[in-house]
Amino acid sequence: MINLVLFGPPGAGKGTQSERLVAKYELVHLSTGDIFRKNMKNETALGQLAKSYMDKGNLVPDSVTIDMLKSELELYPEAKGFIFDGFPRTSPQAEALDIMLAEKSQGITCMLALEVAEAELEKRLLGRAATSGRADDGDIEIVRNRIAVYNRETAPVAEFYKVQGKFISIEGMGGIDEISNRLYASIDAHL
Ligand code: AMP
Repeated sequence: MINLVLFGPPGAGKGTQSERLVAKYELVHLSTGDIFRKNMKNETALGQLAKSYMDKGNLVPDSVTIDMLKSELELYPEAKGFIFDGFPRTSPQAEALDIMLAEKSQGITCMLALEVAEAELEKRLLGRAATSGRADDGDIEIVRNRIAVYNRETAPVAEFYKVQGKFISIEGMGGIDEISNRLYASIDAHL
């Protein structure tokens, strides 16, 4: 099994690159942001709760996010592997993920961290707001808060994978194909 964590700040290209990795390595894509948005659209209780955090660019509480991810994982008993996109975003989430996978005698293969300059992130997020339809992409204050939350709460998660020797830094600036090729090369070298 290949279990990849695709890591990086908002606007780093995790969604775009996930689609390609899913196709190439036949993985199941688990994006916590996408799952929350689906719940918001369907007006579930989880969606309403998540919305109150997402609208401000803050993180949904760990207990809620971890339980949701756990039930999603159970939906794919036959999966060849997973790509975790936007999860884990805190240290407790990273610890919980290791435990969930260990229960299945599995683990994370590697964390691929897309590195993109902050000015470029803001530009990408504001630029994609028109097509993404996401309220949290179109407002500069929310965008800046999401980046600040990333730096404060999520960036330290890299350390969790560094000490396990599973952290791989990927240059996330440049063309989409170019970045995909960097990801493929790193994954193939790690298998
Ligand atoms: P994303 O689609 O990954 O940019 O996530 C959009 C929003 O969903 C984030 O700004 C958070 O409010 C929420 N979210 C997504 N994934 C997580 C997570 N792993 N932990 C907490 N909140 C999350």
